[in-house]
Amino acid sequence: MTDVRNVIIIGGGPAGYTAALYSARANLRPLVIEGFNWGGQLMITSDVENYPGYADGVMGPTMMQDFRRQAERFGAEFLTDDVTRVDFSERPFKVYVGKDEFVADSVIVATGASARQIGLESELRLQGRGVSYCATCDASFFRDKVVMVVGGGDSALEEATFISRFASKVYLVHRREEFRASPIMVDRARADEKIEFVLNKTIDEVIGDAKVTAVRLQDTQTGEFSEIETDGFFVAIGHDPNTALFVEQLDHEEDSGYLVTRGKSTETNVPGVFAAGDVQDHTYRQAVTAAGSGCAAALDAERYLSDLRHAALTATSSG
Ligand code: NAP
Repeated sequence: MTDVRNVIIIGGGPAGYTAALYSARANLRPLVIEGFNWGGQLMITSDVENYPGYADGVMGPTMMQDFRRQAERFGAEFLTDDVTRVDFSERPFKVYVGKDEFVADSVIVATGASARQIGLESELRLQGRGVSYCATCDASFFRDKVVMVVGGGDSALEEATFISRFASKVYLVHRREEFRASPIMVDRARADEKIEFVLNKTIDEVIGDAKVTAVRLQDTQTGEFSEIETDGFFVAIGHDPNTALFVEQLDHEEDSGYLVTRGKSTETNVPGVFAAGDVQDHTYRQAVTAAGSGCAAALDAERYLSDLRHAALTATSSG
């Protein structure tokens, strides 16, 4: 049988790498199956100015390389590939990458969440050049500039209100007249003089070569096109947790798919399987909170493995 590892970590973002760092330093020799897109959402973030310790800020991809290197220094192993299947029905747990099987007594799921994208080629091309998916991260780069926010849920309304503290003008573009957001969030945005509502419009194109200069909209009722000049384009149309591999086996929220963990711990409904970071958190969604959660998962896994060993020793000595 394949070697049974102590812990396999699935996911290579702040949560996964922090779990790797802690479990490597605890001598658990973790295997991190980090995915082809390791680094996660930080890879499409330019400057990160709110991660403690980087006093001068850091580029998102550089920060993820730093996280990875730090875990590697203490013996974490990495596999840059995507997990294709898991079997948590019995211990040791099985994790598959294509036909290759990996087994472990504990697993930490840290596959993160992905910001929904509109899906335009121009949106992808201008990511980090005016197109952003995180107001908390990027709003301050738009001081005294014009910004557009797209979406009609709580995130969009909250982000528009937050960005208006910095920007000179915020257009809130939504494809309908009714909002999914709570009325209080809508009222707050309506009361903000800097925010202008642009309703019944879809995004046709983000315009700009080196950076965003304007956005072309299409009216949902008349079909007419119009253009608004803007320096920033914030997409706030929701996030999807990367949980497709796990929903058959792990408890998750019915409507959103986010994994459910017990109380303050990172325990899932399967003892020995833990979930950390954005895959189980739709509230905070910050690199630093994900890292903290990865640390908690490593500590939870370490405790679990030590209980397992203790139980095995007791069984041997009494047997
Ligand atoms: P959401 O509630 O799913 O809203 C997504 C919004 O984006 C909807 O208005 C939707 O339009 C729009 N949208 C979706 N796809 C689009 C597309 N391709 N083009 C244009 N618009 C598109 O997501 P969310 O705002 O991120 O909120 C997620 C959850 O977190 C919610 O439960 C929310 O209450 C919660 N949350 C709470 C707070 C808070 O309480 N402070 C803050 C943020 C989030 P339609 O309405 O037309 O479908």
